Amino acid sequence: MLLKNSDIAMYHAKKKGRNNCQFFKSEMNKRANERHSMEVDLRNALKCSELLLHYQPIVNIDDTKVYSMEALLRWRHPKNGLICPTKFIRLAEETGMIVLIGEWVMRQSCLQIKAWREQGYEVPKLAINLSALQFRQKTLVADITRILDETEVEGHCLILEITESQLIENVEEVVRTLQQLRALGIEISVDDFGTGYSSLSYLKRYQINTLKIDRSFVRDISDNPEDTAIIAAILAMADNLKINVVAEGVETEEQLFFLASHGCFRFQGYFFSKPLPAPEIESRIWKSINP
Ligand code: C2E
Ligand code: MG
Ligand code: MG
Repeated sequence: MLLKNSDIAMYHAKKKGRNNCQFFKSEMNKRANERHSMEVDLRNALKCSELLLHYQPIVNIDDTKVYSMEALLRWRHPKNGLICPTKFIRLAEETGMIVLIGEWVMRQSCLQIKAWREQGYEVPKLAINLSALQFRQKTLVADITRILDETEVEGHCLILEITESQLIENVEEVVRTLQQLRALGIEISVDDFGTGYSSLSYLKRYQINTLKIDRSFVRDISDNPEDTAIIAAILAMADNLKINVVAEGVETEEQLFFLASHGCFRFQGYFFSKPLPAPEIESRIWKSINP
């Protein structure tokens, strides 16, 4: 017991960074137990088909035509109900489970494209989030190629969303991976743009297709002049570099108006639609683009 408790305290100390000391507290034990049981449950989730995807449209501001949709992971926990990814993605990354989960997301997205096409819908591109660990897998391109072949979906139907921090390590390797993905026809989006460490030179070098302005900047449009200035600067820069921009988390008409008047052409957010399960996409969204 003593050893177990000291282990838990050590884990907490490591999490806080180097050179610090943490004494065991009973709430640490509670958290460690919760984490352990979540880990066990998450391992089961894939086997027991508890994971599912919701889809959120990304729309053109001028004609509200759906340009693409982002696939967002959900976990239907047998006891706790529907769980959002912010609650379990980190654990999935720390345990390496994200690689298998990410492969499931990729296959499921392609299967969904295929199923919608078979029902006669004209399906826009699907954007899939890629975690850092997945992006570093040597087999990433081969795995994606295999899934595309198996599901008979072409690469140009997919967009991969990666974050800024994934682009600054092992530059040569990143260049190669992105080239191979582009050769498959896949587009690359930089997610949560503006929150990470940004080196502007990589945007051109990597031939990024789209920047997604992080929700935190959009939220404070009109209240916070700094955020407003940052958005205006991102839009001007992207325009010069001929990179598309999507504003994330647009909830109000006022935000939309500001974005449109500063040259942003696409957005994603509750103002148009929350992420929806596939049947609701069929009943609500398809009707507008597949009349
Ligand atoms: P993200 O990729 O930046 O996804 C956008 C998040 O913003 C989603 O949260 C979406 O529901 C939320 N959102 C969209 N519009 C609005 C709005 O108008 N207002 C507000 N308040 N929120 C809005 P969600 O689905 O909880 O996902 C959170 C994060 O989890 C994602 O952020 C992404 O980083 C990660 N994630 C989701 N699915 C996957 C996945 O399949 N694989 C990986 N590796 N990560 C994923
Ligand atoms: Mg995303
Ligand atoms: Mg984002």
